[in-house]
Amino acid sequence: MPRNDIAVVGAGLVGAMVATLLTQRGFRVSVFEKRPDPRRAGVQGGRSINLALAERGLHALRATGLAEQVLAQSVMMRGRMVHDPAGHSALQRYGADDSEVIWSVSREGLNGLMLDAAEAAGATFHFGQGLESADLDAGRLMLRSTDGTQRSIDAPVVIGADGAGSALRAQMHRHAPLGERVEELGHGYKELEIPPGSDPSAPFAIEPHALHIWPRGHYMCIALPNREGSFTVTLFLPNEGEHPSFRSIAGAGAAEAFFRADFPDALALMPTFAHDWAAHPVGMLATLYLDRWHIGGRALLIGDAAHAIVPFHGQGMNCGFEDAAELADLFAADPTDPAAVFAAFETRRKPNADAIARMALENYVEMRDKVADPVFLRKRELGALLTERCPSHYLPRYRMVTFTHLPYAYALERGQAQDTLVEQLLKGHDSVGTVDIEAAVRALQATLPPLPAEAFERGLRPALGGA
Ligand code: FAD
Repeated sequence: MPRNDIAVVGAGLVGAMVATLLTQRGFRVSVFEKRPDPRRAGVQGGRSINLALAERGLHALRATGLAEQVLAQSVMMRGRMVHDPAGHSALQRYGADDSEVIWSVSREGLNGLMLDAAEAAGATFHFGQGLESADLDAGRLMLRSTDGTQRSIDAPVVIGADGAGSALRAQMHRHAPLGERVEELGHGYKELEIPPGSDPSAPFAIEPHALHIWPRGHYMCIALPNREGSFTVTLFLPNEGEHPSFRSIAGAGAAEAFFRADFPDALALMPTFAHDWAAHPVGMLATLYLDRWHIGGRALLIGDAAHAIVPFHGQGMNCGFEDAAELADLFAADPTDPAAVFAAFETRRKPNADAIARMALENYVEMRDKVADPVFLRKRELGALLTERCPSHYLPRYRMVTFTHLPYAYALERGQAQDTLVEQLLKGHDSVGTVDIEAAVRALQATLPPLPAEAFERGLRPALGGA
């Protein structure tokens, strides 16, 4: 391979994204994917059917020219629709208006669009070619095709976008230990479905423009809309232990009884519940931490292969897309020195990957437990008021993560400082109504520096006349 050739292992969301962006910058990119071409073979079950796309992912899609097309195939979600055990529901908006929303997008549809874009840009795809082993000293990859034949190829520079179970990561680890640590959450997930209703003019059985949550303390259900009117429902539950856990629920009959007690309104909308429960496996959830993501200029991991996280902030793909965009920028600035590019990428991205891993774990507790908690709701209400009154100094952490390009590590740190302040301001108050807002704004300005300019780059400008 000439010097500017790059091999990518994995043609999932992040592999297709990095292939497109590098090809657009003049690199010759070959992608090797274990599975058959999903545009022809269809998806092979077991992965989430839809995903929440947010600003970081959209930013990378804009660079590929695909953003508008992807949004046209997505469903806007304005906030969390929280369903309480009594069957009442209320929308908690994510942002100030429809410039701050997330999008429910089909994994299969998005992957197909991205593969088309990468091919159109000039990347070459080799489907049904799984990485089996690698000789990183010699710059060679050994591949096995679906018919069992093996071949070896030259690949002096290889990027591993082959997901949480990365084969390239295992090969790199054999070459030089990467300091791998996997922390299992102890909770798993199962996907179910609310089908479209029979009226084609109003196919959605519940509010389409929301991410639905049924929080129940230690566990929860969520539902994301699909364009044709269905919802993909995901139950998150402890794997082991006392009822309810995946272990304590033996079979579809017991699962139905559990849903009848805990999620009766959702169960009423799921006519194929028993079939879906039996047919869909329990997925496992874990966080992957590595000390190193690259070996010199020969091999680098990105996306889930480097930093798989739990899905509760809806940021795994978004973070992987941001990885791809930053990597392509670094390569464009220094096209002949992959070792320097990989080192700079790791330095820049690793603190951010660690931060979103932590926030994703924290968000599980927030979603399943706190969204219905009065103390949490009071903090949220005061935070929203401070954002309105003093947008130059206060932006809720969820919005920093979801609607800006501020580094995740900044969002984590700033979010902690804001949280501490809000807790102090609420001390002794049972309601936000009794807090002296003018004094709270003064305390905010005295305690925290203004937010950086990046906080206001998209639809988040301080209101005219704001402090
Ligand atoms: P993958 O999508 O896993 O792709 C890896 C690719 O590599 C696959 O095509 C695979 O076949 C291929 N491959 C594997 N081994 C080999 C090999 N040996 N040789 C060649 N190819 C190989 N993220 C969000 O941003 N928003 C969400 O709402 C969201 N929801 C989620 C819900 C659930 C239940 C889960 C589990 C995850 C969710 N995520 C979400 C995370 C998101 O799915 C991942 O972060 C994203 O898929 C990572 O993309 P990737 O390309 O790095 O890895």
